[in-house]
Amino acid sequence: MKKTKKTVKKTSMVRKPAPTKPKGTVPARGLSPKPSTDIKLTGVPMVVEKTDPAMVIQWPRTIVHHHTYGLLSPFFEGLKKGVLRGVRCPNSACDEKGIWLPPRADCPDCHTRTKWVDLKNPVIGEIFTFTHVEYPGHGIEISYPYYQIDVRIPGCCTVMKGYLVRGEAKIGMKVRACFRTKQPTNTILDLSWEPAE
Ligand SMILES: [Zn+2]
Repeated sequence: MKKTKKTVKKTSMVRKPAPTKPKGTVPARGLSPKPSTDIKLTGVPMVVEKTDPAMVIQWPRTIVHHHTYGLLSPFFEGLKKGVLRGVRCPNSACDEKGIWLPPRADCPDCHTRTKWVDLKNPVIGEIFTFTHVEYPGHGIEISYPYYQIDVRIPGCCTVMKGYLVRGEAKIGMKVRACFRTKQPTNTILDLSWEPAE
């Protein structure tokens, strides 16, 4: 057998000088400076449930989501007080469109900060369309089946979603806004609708 001679190409061993770091640069994102103190345990020991045939521990996990309503907070405060609050654009060119409900912090058309307006009780709307929900998604906090309704409210330029608390939904049916003022959930579920005819 004929042996082939391997040739190794020698690369230059001369090192390039490290690039000089400009003064005042910050470390790349995700890299923190070296910790100045020893790392300490902040967790707590887990309960050992069993050791045979393998070690099993209790590892409780919960998640609290801190959600802010931000500039829309007055809407949710209103529901607790039995008031449906919408917004208007202070810009006269937009204002003629009417009230935005659900509210928007800023006018979707001209981006001006909107102004709050309380709707007069009783708030009577009309069912624009509806869905009979038989299999809601995970986490639904009302009993089912239920009617999810889209309500057209006089003076509003939007159609608002909600749910019918009793009765059978029909397109064009008049509905009245109801508020969970006793033990409110502090969510949109504090607003529901009931037949008004
Ligand atoms: Zn506007």
